Amino acid sequence: MRSQRRPAAVPSLMLRGARLVPVRGAGLRGEVPVDDTVDVPMDVLVIDGRVVEVGEGLARPQGVAEHRADGRWLMPGLWDQHVHLGQWTMVSQRLDLTGTRSVEEVLGLVSQRLAELPVGPVIGWGHRSASWSPQPNVRELDEVTGDRPVVLISGDGHHAWINTVGLRGLRLPVRDDVVAEGEWFQAYPRLSDVAGSDGTAPEAYLHTLREAAAKGITGLVDLEFDQSLGAWPEREAAGAELLRVKVGAYVDTVAEFIAAGLQTGDMLPGCGPLVTMGPLKIISDGSLNTRTAWCCAPYAEGGGTGAPNLSEESMRALLAHATKHGLEVAVHAIGDAAVRAALAAYDETGATGTIEHAQLMNREDSRTMARLGIRASVQPAHLLDDRDLSESFWPGCTDRCFALRWLHDDGVQVVFGSDAPVSPLDPWDAMAAAVHRSADEREPWHGEQALTVHEALAASTNGLGTVTVGHPADLALLDADPLPSGTSREQAAALRSMHVAATWVGGRLAHNEF
Ligand SMILES: [Zn+2]
Repeated sequence: MRSQRRPAAVPSLMLRGARLVPVRGAGLRGEVPVDDTVDVPMDVLVIDGRVVEVGEGLARPQGVAEHRADGRWLMPGLWDQHVHLGQWTMVSQRLDLTGTRSVEEVLGLVSQRLAELPVGPVIGWGHRSASWSPQPNVRELDEVTGDRPVVLISGDGHHAWINTVGLRGLRLPVRDDVVAEGEWFQAYPRLSDVAGSDGTAPEAYLHTLREAAAKGITGLVDLEFDQSLGAWPEREAAGAELLRVKVGAYVDTVAEFIAAGLQTGDMLPGCGPLVTMGPLKIISDGSLNTRTAWCCAPYAEGGGTGAPNLSEESMRALLAHATKHGLEVAVHAIGDAAVRAALAAYDETGATGTIEHAQLMNREDSRTMARLGIRASVQPAHLLDDRDLSESFWPGCTDRCFALRWLHDDGVQVVFGSDAPVSPLDPWDAMAAAVHRSADEREPWHGEQALTVHEALAASTNGLGTVTVGHPADLALLDADPLPSGTSREQAAALRSMHVAATWVGGRLAHNEF
């Protein structure tokens, strides 16, 4: 089945005159004994999808195509370690509500969209309403929408503001409040009942993958909810094949993957070599926005501490189950209590994998994480979005938010992602936020927790260091030096405006603009 679709020849190429970006850090493959001056452009020979020779004036084997890098900068391809690819694909076709400041403003945009498109549903996304007064309510939404279904998904993905027609379409009880957390996560897969499925056709996915490749991305971890084992094979067969994808399972879908004998890292049956089994994702607490992330101390506004989504026993049982079947685990833990509980479960079960988000944590837990070898999968762009909310909900604790410096210095492997659509699928945004913790004119937010550009690059390459012999030919060729000098503000600006000339995945061109 695989060999029918896969071309027999595995790609080879000679790239002439590329400056090798030094990417170093603990645990990266590709430590090479060269100093950091990379002004001598090198030739890179790729045979059968792997780098086999790096040096000056290499001989080109017969039949191998040649590309001239003309002194551009070459680094390992970038990864986004946390994407909801289906949602991100749909978001581009949705009513954009990011940056809205009130119920009234959202209602205005919804009526405008309803007038522009006289039939069909409206799916909106991106409002962050935690601090709004009044809060979103169904009655006011119904007044503008009439009988057209409207579903407005919050920017953190943890609630949806749905009108009465939409609630009925999603088979949810009618109410005046938003649909949040578990109830929303369960309803989400039924969204296509209301919205139609055009938003996630294979062509739409391929478009998303091309846009990611244009940013130098060669791989991503797809943690979309409720994907069956057959979802990616179908998509690939229909042409959505370009980048490496690790497919995550959730508690309610994992049985199917286990029954197929899949362990983390295995190729998915019916797919080409790019699509492999990812981790089991477990959502152990809520979010900051909805004050449901589980914390050691109560939130400043609104009383409680948040709560775990599952008991200690269930968490341990899940981790043990995953480990027994050869699956890594990705535990969503945003509050410091959730991080601690997740690490305890990792410790007791010997499971391996990541803490996703780790938005608020204690130093000792950072050290525990290092000791256990659990990776920190963090989305630095969220620190820009959550800065002000964290100050009001977690006052006096924000020196422990997005504690990248602690994690790095304690020896935790830090890896970056976007959690798209929560923040855009853009690794350069993530790196910029990690380096300069401010999106505006203000000083960096706890700049002592920032990373250097070197460290941010190392968190973005899925464990590959400087391009060297033996690496897969997953490569990004850049028009500018990704290790710019200057202040952190200047460095962040340079990263955000990075232009990627070409991207190769396993030696195959996935993006070409040079
Ligand atoms: Zn997520």
